[in-house]
Amino acid sequence: MTTEGFGTRAIHAGQVPDPSTGAIMTPVYMTSTYVQESPGVCKDGYDYARSKNPTRHALEMNVASLEGGGHGFAFSSGLAAMDCVLHLLAAGDHVVLCDDVYGGTFRQLDKVFRHLGIETTRVDMTDLGATQRAMRPTTRLVWIETPTNPMLKVVDIAGVSAIAWQRGPVGGWKWGGGAGGAGRAGEPGRPGATRPPIVVVDNTFASPFLQNPLALGADIVLHSCTKYLGGHSDVVAGMLVARDEELADRLRFLQNAVGAVPGAMDCFLLLRSTKTLHVRMERHCENAGKVARFLAAHGSVERVVYPGLESHPQHAIARKQMRGYGGMITCTLRGGLDAARRFLERVRLFSLAESLGGVESLIEHPAIMTHASVPPENRAALGIADGLVRLSVGIEDASDLIADLERALA
Ligand SMILES: *Cc1c(COP(=O)(O)O)cnc(C)c1O
Repeated sequence: MTTEGFGTRAIHAGQVPDPSTGAIMTPVYMTSTYVQESPGVCKDGYDYARSKNPTRHALEMNVASLEGGGHGFAFSSGLAAMDCVLHLLAAGDHVVLCDDVYGGTFRQLDKVFRHLGIETTRVDMTDLGATQRAMRPTTRLVWIETPTNPMLKVVDIAGVSAIAWQRGPVGGWKWGGGAGGAGRAGEPGRPGATRPPIVVVDNTFASPFLQNPLALGADIVLHSCTKYLGGHSDVVAGMLVARDEELADRLRFLQNAVGAVPGAMDCFLLLRSTKTLHVRMERHCENAGKVARFLAAHGSVERVVYPGLESHPQHAIARKQMRGYGGMITCTLRGGLDAARRFLERVRLFSLAESLGGVESLIEHPAIMTHASVPPENRAALGIADGLVRLSVGIEDASDLIADLERALA
């Protein structure tokens, strides 16, 4: 399927007419188990619904195709998908993390996995030299988010992946690492073997329509499907797509062993959403470009950050690795917190809410809302000021969105 265009794959990949009725839409298989013909003999691996569900399977194949990877693994949230990735590690392992990440990503590493012996170094990954210096002999995971949240920094995925790859194989993985060989009973892979550090890219802000990290050298792509993949603000879910077979085997094992899978109805809603991803993303990009230019020209706005503006510090990298610049904009208002609060209270079409990526436009205040879990000193270092506002530009008419902002700024 990968030779077909994105829109064709968005609509058809992973989906076939229902074998029992010919229904064109994948049914919502609300079942917890499957009847076996003889003990241990089941159809296509369908033995229990935590392990495999047909609606979920169609979704996993669909997103895997959009990302150009072999295997997709769906989860009940983006953070549940992250939790599964971190279970690839063991105590004593080290993670190099992009400094400006989704607040919940930082919280999971800092407040959950740190206590389990996983160490983390945060680094500004727009600086490849600093990223290189952050690597340790025990580094097994490099976590990239690009564009970042909320500062919309753009990280050179190929550049950072090359750093991990040049590092060469790291020994002593508790699983996997070589061709063949079984690990501990029931676990895929060969314990104690070697492989280079794993590069994970949180591709939530770009969506697979704008950026395919696996083609740039990453090993795993993560999505919070809650955002653009879902696109209608009605589902919380996550997804991983792995490039190589060995990682896929381990992730499949963990998905089932840890068990944070989404329900069939959520998978159905996501399958319906991915069919329009390309159309929605085109409009998100077009509208955000117009809104960004409007804000940049407005006297009450001190600074606008949007990867599509030439003033963006990594605009050249964005142009190289993305097919469009997305629907997210960050701006700083003159007048600090007071000005930001008045502005956020006065917008009408933009809804004051956390989250992003839906068809409707949202606006929020990172320091008080989405990034409250990031320590104040880290926020300051990242530039998350009190006058900073983040916009998720929806797919309404751009002229109405701009009129709303103009009225609220006046
Ligand atoms: C929302 C988000 C997450 C977490 O996803 P949930 O579905 O809310 O668990 C992770 N990364 C990014 C960039 C996000 O925006």
